[in-house]
Amino acid sequence: MSPPSLPPLVLITGGSRGIGAACALLAARQGWAVAVNYTRDAQAADAVVSQIQAHGGKAQAFQADVGVEADIIRLFNEVDQAMGRITGLINNAGVVDVASRVEDMSWQRLERMMRINVLGSFACAAQAVKRMSTRRGGQGGSIVNLSSAAATLGAPQQYVDYAASKGAIDTFTMGLAKEVATEGIRVNGVRPGLILTDIHASGGQPDRAHQLANQVPMQRPGTADEVAQAVVWLLSDAASYVTASMVNVGGGR
Ligand code: NAP
Repeated sequence: MSPPSLPPLVLITGGSRGIGAACALLAARQGWAVAVNYTRDAQAADAVVSQIQAHGGKAQAFQADVGVEADIIRLFNEVDQAMGRITGLINNAGVVDVASRVEDMSWQRLERMMRINVLGSFACAAQAVKRMSTRRGGQGGSIVNLSSAAATLGAPQQYVDYAASKGAIDTFTMGLAKEVATEGIRVNGVRPGLILTDIHASGGQPDRAHQLANQVPMQRPGTADEVAQAVVWLLSDAASYVTASMVNVGGGR
């Protein structure tokens, strides 16, 4: 009798809250072992891990700031050692900032935005490709990048810097997908619209998703679970012929 096969393993950056946490819970329900990354809130990450374990799933929390290269390298090494080799990566961690016009944005603000949202996603994907690529002896895998409807709207008077960072994610998704398409790796992206999470409070507008709901053709904000459904589908073998694709989850926005 052959030994029971291990569940596939996905690393989710920013898996402790919001869309990342919803992805962690849904992926676990669909049979993935989950490495839950967070940066500050260990308690929130532990709560996601406990919820997964309570339902018989496998999960572990890992602290790392995806805006710091050394943290990313440490994160992937710790996941290797504690849980095994990943075949899934959800590049979910992302930040906004307070509403500002472009001419008033400081260099420090722009640097933080691009470091976490863009460089972090590039560097995490690079680590994932090194582990997944059949060219490097890996088993293949799937990467899903969190973009935003803002990438196509521009977010004027709010955060053009954030929108531009997500525009970079769209181009990155397309380019990387084509680069590794023959190496067993699929790369896709999801563009959420206005989703009910804490991210709006961190930009100083806790009620933003409800306030702007009248701009959404479906006239309501979305939930983190609704985004997770698209992300985890793209991650899974059910999307085996899907790569270099962006899925809009924005109620028509
Ligand atoms: P959220 O509720 O603010 O949660 C952010 C998560 O990312 C938390 O787990 C946080 O961990 C983690 N995180 C933040 N900075 C990090 C860093 N430097 N390194 C590692 N982890 C970090 O955000 P969300 O609304 O779920 O958004 C998730 C993704 O979807 C983001 O990429 C966002 O841009 C995108 N998105 C969201 C919306 C929306 O309306 N909510 C719309 C479009 C796109 P800690 O709690 O430990 O800090």
